[in-house]
Parts: sequence; structure tokens; C-alpha cells
Amino acid sequence: MENKKFINICYEAIDCHLKTTRRDSVAIRYIDPSWPQKSDSVRDLTYQELAIETYKLAHVLKNLGIKKGDVLFSLTPRIPELYTVALGSLRLGVVFSPLFSAFGPEPILARMKKGKGKVIFTYASYFRKKVAPILSSLPALEHILLIDDDGSLKDINGALNFHELMASADGTPILEQTDAEDFALLHFTSGTTGEPKGAVHVHQAVEYHKKSGQLALDFKANDIFWCTADPGWVTGTSYGIISPLCNGVTMLIDGAEFNAVRWYEILQHFKVDVWYTAPTAMRMLMRAGEELPKQYDFSRVRFASSVGEPLNPEVIEWTRKHLNITLHDNWWQTETGGIIIANDSHLPVRAGSMGKPLPGIQVALIKGQKGEELEFIQTPGEQGEIVIHKGWASMFRGYLENPERYAKCFVGDWYLSGDLAKRDQDGYYWFVGRKDDVIKTSGHLIGPFEVESLLMEHPSVLEAAVIGIPDPVAGEMIKAFVVLRSGYAPTAEQKLQILGYARTKLGIAVAPREIQFIENLPKTRSGKIMRRLLKARELGLPVGDLSTLEISHDQP
Ligand code: ATP
Ligand code: MG
Repeated sequence: MENKKFINICYEAIDCHLKTTRRDSVAIRYIDPSWPQKSDSVRDLTYQELAIETYKLAHVLKNLGIKKGDVLFSLTPRIPELYTVALGSLRLGVVFSPLFSAFGPEPILARMKKGKGKVIFTYASYFRKKVAPILSSLPALEHILLIDDDGSLKDINGALNFHELMASADGTPILEQTDAEDFALLHFTSGTTGEPKGAVHVHQAVEYHKKSGQLALDFKANDIFWCTADPGWVTGTSYGIISPLCNGVTMLIDGAEFNAVRWYEILQHFKVDVWYTAPTAMRMLMRAGEELPKQYDFSRVRFASSVGEPLNPEVIEWTRKHLNITLHDNWWQTETGGIIIANDSHLPVRAGSMGKPLPGIQVALIKGQKGEELEFIQTPGEQGEIVIHKGWASMFRGYLENPERYAKCFVGDWYLSGDLAKRDQDGYYWFVGRKDDVIKTSGHLIGPFEVESLLMEHPSVLEAAVIGIPDPVAGEMIKAFVVLRSGYAPTAEQKLQILGYARTKLGIAVAPREIQFIENLPKTRSGKIMRRLLKARELGLPVGDLSTLEISHDQP
């Protein structure tokens, strides 16, 4: 007989607290964009209240005929209802796939078509602008749950008023008996290196979400935790919804976009104990200057960490100096579903290192492979690809509609991450770069991170991205795109100063040959530098999939 193991993400996040005293503690503290101007701009939901909302949502979906395995897409900013919909869908075994609210029709179409979305949860205005134009290409879409039905959508087949349905919904407990291997979440990758891939995750992942939150983010019950990532990306779901709730913490959700003053006020006012953010956000805080943080007290923050991009030593130093907060790096991917390598609270920070693999996770570096055999690196300091031994619970189970690509990620029992790193003699891992971004110059293999971090040490440099450009002599030469700090002018003199600094510190072979000043670096909406776009533009090549590109960037 088949050995079934029932496990449900929503049960682990909410229901398991309901027979404990935690049922009445705050699960979600939502900060409306109107905060602090408006008096009723903060909304608390206890675990019990959140449970009831998700019961109702599950009943609403069930009454619509939605079943286990059907896919629901959300397309909203961070509003409280988004969290009810995410968890309520999982409760019913419905697959939840969050879309970033700034996506336009094309990226929405690509993802919903692949996912065969049956339901979409969104605003009437978003629907009109972004979904209506592509509706005829989405034959699987049956129901449109509108948060703010303005009545104008009566003619649209399947359009429903979310709040009306919720107001009359059954609020009694309901839980689908999901199997550990049942499909639960569909997350699209950031599209940094090419077309975003749809990674499939299962209910069993929750075991790892829960454990890794304790190990890597130091979660303790009743902590006030703030994850700044949007659920449109895997960080905003694994650690912006699931892991904190499983661990009984109070999760802050800020509905507004980035604003330095607001962020400092949130950290102070809401007494954040644990903070999870990203290098790009930290560099935006740096941009806002050193005077601003002096007005605030961040001594309450017990643990702070960062993910998504390499955490440059300069950023760690700045944050220590001006916020009195030590940032801890951690590394993972959409595919891993959870944090794999981390500078946890027990590990002294080595600035520039990502830390060590979490307990129970087997990580190694490889030089390459010979057929089905991997060539493992034993020597400290040698550079290789990060590989992870199969079997952690939140490992992805496939790329939607791309089994060949999925198969290529594995050799025997090992998952090949596509990222390069070094390991020192004490077992710390140091990020080098993505395999795609590594530059081959005069016989050296250079990771962009090392060069970018060094450039950022120069007082005039706020951010930098380096790429390799074909060179008849060196193979490739390094070109750097540099964003200057305020107060510095993009002059030829400034360029020479930075180039000179890089040559002294890195040596002629590794230093950039050329620098170009740029207002903003092209980034994905999840804050990752799109080096491939800089390169394509530089070389006049096709720019490829730009669905995740943040709009506010200039052309180099
Ligand atoms: P795509 O796979 O579509 O090109 P992506 O790899 O950027 O996009 P994500 O899964 O969101 O999509 O990002 C994971 C990647 O982000 C990692 O493979 C790594 O390159 C980078 N990354 C994440 N955390 C860190 C970190 N702490 N240090 C360095 N790089 C990191
Ligand atoms: Mg990737």
C-alpha cells in the first residue's frame, strides 16, 4: 500500500497554534500605506482570527468548485487579504502562485498560461488593465475574485465580489488532507539570467520552512519580525508568510513601497526584533545618507539578515556604523525553497561570506563533472559550483513545462545550483558569482562580486556592476558600471580615481579596464542586478526576457 503522509502548510502555520495560548496572540500586524498619518492604519489579526478568515476563503473556493491541485494566482500589492488568500488556498490544497503586482499583461500571461491558473485574485482596475487584454489566451481561467468590484465587471464571465463572498461564507473549520508530495506553491524565479522558470513546491516544504526560520533567522515565539520582501518572490512567501507563522511570531507587513524614513520609523516604532531584508534595500538606505539614521534607536533589533544578492562588506560595515545593526548574509534560491547557507546568530560574521550550510544540509563545491561523476573540491580556497545533496523538504519538485531543464539540474543525488563559491578552511562559504556572470580574462576566472565589492569601498561609489566584454588579447576585459554617491560628479577625473584605486587593490589583471557612470543599475523587481542586460546592451545583442525588469532605470 502506498505510504501517505498528510501534511498541510496552512495547518502548520495556523491551526497547530489554535489549541495553545498563542491563538490569541497577533499573527499579522498590517501597516497600511497611510501610516502614520491615519489613526486606524494598523490592523492586527490574531492566529484565531486569521484561522477564521482562511476557513471562509477555503469554503468560498470550495463552493466555486475549486479543488485540490487547481491553481490560484494573486495579483495585488501587500494587503491583508493577500495573506488570507495565500493561506486559505493552501488549506484547501489549492496551489498558490503569487504574481508581483507591478507586472503588466505579458509577464502575467506567460506565468498564468504555464500554471493553467483557474482563479485570479486581484483589483478591478488591475483586471481591466492587465488581465482583460489577455483573457482570450487564458482558457483555464474560470473565476475572477475582485477585492473592489466596482460593478463595471458584470459583463465579465466569472467576475466575483471577494468581500461579499467572504461576508456570507461559512467560518467553520475546514482542512484538505494534503499529502506531503501534493503540489502547494508555484514560484517563478527572478529572471536574472533569462526567462523566469516556474518552480514547483510541495506541502512537505513547510517542515523546512519552519526549521530554517529557527536556525537561520533566530525566530523565537512572540518575536516581532519584519520581512521586507514582497510575496511575489519566494522570500516573501517562505519567510514573509509561512516560516514566521509556523514559529508563532508576529509578522509585520508593510503595505507601502520603500521609503528610508518610513523604514527607520517602522523598525523603531513597531519594535522589530528580527529583520530580513536585501542588499539592494540596504544600498537604498545608504543612499538616503548617514544623518537620517542618527534620529532613531534600533537597539531593539536582535537579529538582522539579508538575502537575494551578494552582501558587500561595505554594506555590512555601513550598517554597523550607522544603524548599530550587524547584517547576517544568507544564500538560497527559488529552487531550494528555503535558506541553505547562512550566517546564523551563533556564527561570527566574516564580512563577504554567506556563512555555513544549515545543520542537516549537505553542501559541496564541484570543479566539474565527468559523465555522471562529480569532481568535488576538497582544498580550501578553490572555486567551484555549489551543489546540494537531494532530500531537504523544500527542494523544488520540477520546473513547470520544462522537465528537461529540471533534469539538467541534477547529477545523481546532487542538485547543481549554477552559483560559484569558495570555502575557507573553517567551512565558511564565499560567494563568487553566477556561472553565467563569471568573467574570463587573461587566464583568470573572475567573479563579479569581488570586483564590485572592491569598487564599493571607494568613497565615491554607491553601487557597481561588472561584466566581461570580448577582447582580442585578454579573452574578455572587465567593464564596470558605477552609480556614484550623492555629492560626487561623473567626471573623467572621478573615473580615473576609481580606476586607479581598483588597480592598486586588485592588480592590473583583475581591475576593470573601463568604467561607465550610470544613474541606476538595471535590476529585477526582486532587487537583483541584471548583468546580462548591461552586457546585451553593451554588445548590441538581443536583450532577452525583460518581464521582471524594474522600470525605473535608465539606458546605459
Ligand atoms: P533566474 O534563475 O530566473 O535567473 P534568479 O536566480 O535571480 O533568477 P532567484 O531564485 O530569485 O532567481 O535568486 C536566486 C539567486 O540569487 C541565487 O542563485 C544567487 O545567484 C542569488 N543570491 C541569493 N542569495 C544570495 C546571497 N546571499 N549572496 C549572493 N547571491 C545570492
Ligand atoms: Mg536562478
